[in-house]
Amino acid sequence: MTVESATATTSLPLEASLKHYFGYDSFRAGQQEIINAALQGQDLMVIMPTGGGKSICFQLPALLKSGVMIVVSPLIALMQDQVTALQVNQIPATYLNSSLSMAETRDRESQLLRGDIKLLYVAPERLFNTNFLGLLDQIQSRFGISYITVDEAHCVSEWGHDFRPEYRRLAELRLRYPHVPVMALTATATDRVRQDILHQLRLREPFAHLASFNRPNLYYEVRPKHRNLYDEILQYIRKTEGSGIIYCASRRQVDELTAKLQRDGISTLPYHAGLNDRIRSENQTGFLRDDVQIMVATVAFGMGINKPDVRFVIHHDLPRNIESYYQEGGRAGRDGEPAACILYFAPKDIRTIDWMIDQKVNPATGEPLEQEQRIARQQLRQVIDYAEGTVCRRTIQLSYFGEQFAGNCDNCDNCRNPKPLEDWTVDAQKFLSCIARCQERFGTNHIIDVLRGSKGQRITQKGHDKLTTYGIGKDKTVDQWRLLGRTLLQQGLVDETTDGYPVLKLNARSWEVMRKQQSVYVAVAPQKADGGNDRRSQSTGSIDAEALFQRLRTLRKKLADERAIAPYMVFADSTLKSMAQQQPQTLAEFAAISGVGSRKLLQYGDKFLSEIHGFRSEQGLPVVEKEETATPTSTPDDFALAETLATTLALLQKGCSVAEISQQRGLKPNTVLSHLVELIEQGQPIALEPLVTIDRQEKIKAAIAKVGATSLTAIRNHLGEAYSYDEIKLVRADWHRLQE
Ligand code: ADP
Ligand code: ZN
Repeated sequence: MTVESATATTSLPLEASLKHYFGYDSFRAGQQEIINAALQGQDLMVIMPTGGGKSICFQLPALLKSGVMIVVSPLIALMQDQVTALQVNQIPATYLNSSLSMAETRDRESQLLRGDIKLLYVAPERLFNTNFLGLLDQIQSRFGISYITVDEAHCVSEWGHDFRPEYRRLAELRLRYPHVPVMALTATATDRVRQDILHQLRLREPFAHLASFNRPNLYYEVRPKHRNLYDEILQYIRKTEGSGIIYCASRRQVDELTAKLQRDGISTLPYHAGLNDRIRSENQTGFLRDDVQIMVATVAFGMGINKPDVRFVIHHDLPRNIESYYQEGGRAGRDGEPAACILYFAPKDIRTIDWMIDQKVNPATGEPLEQEQRIARQQLRQVIDYAEGTVCRRTIQLSYFGEQFAGNCDNCDNCRNPKPLEDWTVDAQKFLSCIARCQERFGTNHIIDVLRGSKGQRITQKGHDKLTTYGIGKDKTVDQWRLLGRTLLQQGLVDETTDGYPVLKLNARSWEVMRKQQSVYVAVAPQKADGGNDRRSQSTGSIDAEALFQRLRTLRKKLADERAIAPYMVFADSTLKSMAQQQPQTLAEFAAISGVGSRKLLQYGDKFLSEIHGFRSEQGLPVVEKEETATPTSTPDDFALAETLATTLALLQKGCSVAEISQQRGLKPNTVLSHLVELIEQGQPIALEPLVTIDRQEKIKAAIAKVGATSLTAIRNHLGEAYSYDEIKLVRADWHRLQE
């Protein structure tokens, strides 16, 4: 498996398709390399954090490759959202799942067999139904299956958090279509799950992209839970623009908090496994469409929500482990805009969870599940270490996933209000050498007992009171030693086993500390509970822009409601912000905004422009007069051209011939040919072969080599009447492209 690093390079044609279909100006880190590998038809393993931009990595190749891409996706709601978001961009996508009627299913199947679809989303269980396999066979023989894409690929692993047994059978597809490449995508952060995906899906020397799990736009904060917790949360919501999720530990807490917030006039809905399916799905849709601002939920509210513009996630109670916290908090800010993750922590919560862990028993025998309990306790300890941690929150989270992060992120409470650092190198040396003396067979508590000269039985029985490190740490309290141990772990200066028996192990960096090659700093000031005015505001820059942003949001909500889609499917928050800041006045200016693709330009351009226009005139700002603003009929030339070219390209990619395109679009065949010439010169991946046989291409190229490319007539004369001008133009365009 080759892992490449994420560097962005530029290549025009791909970026042009990105802008055309999705409205984005440039690729995010890694996307372009992944897409290139997909265009080559390699197996792929894409591991990116939530919000990293995985969707485009398969959606764009699906559009650019011939044939139909099959996308396996675990949840019906997810599939529907993705397909709707594609369809509003006029991308030919559809899904087949159990929510459809017979008639709808048949209708979609015939669309597929007509070649009208490029992306087909399916639930894993459907894949093994004989009728469906028959449909796949037909697609394969008519158009080819371009890829089998497995989204949320961690579902294949029992080690992950959403194991789905049906995913296990996906390998059967590999056997059925051995030459179709497979692409797996996931946001899983643990190595064990990644290895499992690789093996379970039988990936063949995949091109692997492993992104950093750092989410720079998320602000992390831990707040002490006071008596006035509710008021603090209420104020926070009132001050904060946009959607938020509040996770609670129990259904009862969800119901209580929802009722309180509703009473205080906050639009809030609950979500937990105790509500029936219909209510859950209604509440989820309400949240997705911004009909309601706050979702109070248990962790049952999870993977099904790909709402990109969640602005904060509050944990009212401690999460089960660091990975859950990372994933749950990570539902904030998928769109890359600033968002906050706030964890409330009270030491008394530890007792509640401890009690719950005690309840883990074998239902058949009533015996405690000791191993599970041990692992749960260790994970709880790690969460507490996170909550009490004084170093960069990112460093702590990422170290849990084996990723080193240097700290100083400037976007967490500890980095924004750093506690003074003290040099504890000497103490760290004592601590680490005590681990060595104890043969790396004990956990933190034992090491501290030895250092502090405990007379406990465990110490004397093992003869640890004879060690040279016995009693050399009496100058520090147990809490201080714990703080040091935690800091060493969080900074990766010592390791700990994770099987539920936390034993401290030395690593290469521990030895550097002991050899005095590395200093150890510990942040020690007592943590003051200030209400956290650290929150990064959603500011758009100026008061003007802020006011316009609010108007654009209202317009977006109205347009979304008219179409019964979620507001983010009209435009993302970041796109609205750019509009509010740049205040485009013509369609051409509007088209240049990131997030405005060709389809959305035509659909919404006028409406947003007139809102901006209205706003500017009210503010007494100069405006471009209405007549001058372009309407679709007077779209700027280059844009209109791009639009018509893209339509031709899309039809070509569906396998239409020049004659069919000209018929369908009501254009002269010559016009379509001129599009092809233009597209080829732009470097679009167009296969010449179905239009001009390879043999003829070579002859034409040979003629160009003889008489030059400038004069079509000269080339034609050289070749003779058996060659048409059209063919020559196409091949010449290809030849030009290759010369560049
Ligand atoms: P993931 O599936 O990895 O969680 P998505 O594919 O949903 O992430 O993308 C997250 C957000 O980033 C979406 O709002 C998407 O529109 C946006 N996005 C993705 N790629 C780009 C890009 N190249 N430029 C700008 N925004 C992008
Ligand atoms: Zn930080």
